[in-house]
Amino acid sequence: MANKNDVSAKILDDIFVIMQNLYSEMHLGETGKGNHMAVFEEFAKLGKTLVNADRVSFWRWDKTNKKLVTAIAMGVDKIVMDEGAGLVGRSLAENKPIVTNTPREEPGFNPSIDVITRYDTKSVMVLPVKNCRGETIGAFQAINKLGECGFDEVEDVKRLSIAAFICGMALESDIFLDESQHDKLTTLKNRLGFYADCKSKYAKAMQADENGLLSIIICDIDYFKKVNDTYGHNGGDAVLKHVARILSEQTAPFDVYRWGGEEFLILMGRENIEFAADRAEKIRRTIEESVCRFETQEIKITMSFGCAEACPNLTMEENVKIADNRLYSAKETGRNKVVAFDEKG
Ligand code: GH3
Ligand code: MG
Ligand code: MG
Repeated sequence: MANKNDVSAKILDDIFVIMQNLYSEMHLGETGKGNHMAVFEEFAKLGKTLVNADRVSFWRWDKTNKKLVTAIAMGVDKIVMDEGAGLVGRSLAENKPIVTNTPREEPGFNPSIDVITRYDTKSVMVLPVKNCRGETIGAFQAINKLGECGFDEVEDVKRLSIAAFICGMALESDIFLDESQHDKLTTLKNRLGFYADCKSKYAKAMQADENGLLSIIICDIDYFKKVNDTYGHNGGDAVLKHVARILSEQTAPFDVYRWGGEEFLILMGRENIEFAADRAEKIRRTIEESVCRFETQEIKITMSFGCAEACPNLTMEENVKIADNRLYSAKETGRNKVVAFDEKG
């Protein structure tokens, strides 16, 4: 029989390997996912080792959509559950750990997950995970203790809480990062989100030798100050949300960013200037024909557009500046129009 010191040494070795993997992966920055997936993956493995479980999963609470979503689930693709569903949902709702070796007798146990995972759940342990304000943001779940009868309510909870705590900190950072890259009012990505995307998903398109194609549209609401003056700041905010919704609908699957106040930027990967100009014209018409309803009033607006095809020899800032100069030219020459080329002469 393994002596207790051997077991502890094995666990310490496992922790060391996990830390080393994580450290090198973070330093190399090879995940390229712009989030903490590597931390979730490595600490899910650690949690599994610490409690000698068959499999583990780490769940994220999506507050906006009121769903539980797996950040990591071993052996299956993403699982999405409704608020309060399953033992994970119950643990979050009751804000306390659940440890059971007779899961089918537990209120909330969801046997349909076993159908998805083709698994026979015999023991379950769920720990809710909180942020620094004490709000529940996720949960760590371990299933089926290997080689023994089940999870121990005291010892295994202590052990799993180490991995759950670290995953919780990484999840909190991930949520902060996500919030910092989105605009609260329109829910679009903001300028920080733009720079993050430029570094990750658009870096290749900006390399001269990659033959990448990327077009930029920058647009601005015409006489927006007058909207605020006429309908008040809340009326102005309603217009910004209205515009953001139309831009998202009309440009999907491309990325739209709130560039600043009433200015928006669209990146169209693999598309040329003709495509961008054509799409900008369609959006311009849709905006012009649309009506933003605010309280009992109907607000009409127009927008001006500048487009550019990114040149890989220039920086992203320089390329955006070209689109911005064309937007300026659209404003100067009457507004409610698209400028996609430099005026000759
Ligand atoms: P132009 O046609 O030349 O673009 O004129 P404009 O009035 O749209 O441009 P200007 O730059 O003079 O005014 C922009 C206004 O946008 C001023 C600012 O108060 C307002 N604004 C910026 N951000 C917000 C916001 O988040 N909400 C609201 N309601 N207004 C905002
Ligand atoms: Mg404006
Ligand atoms: Mg402006």
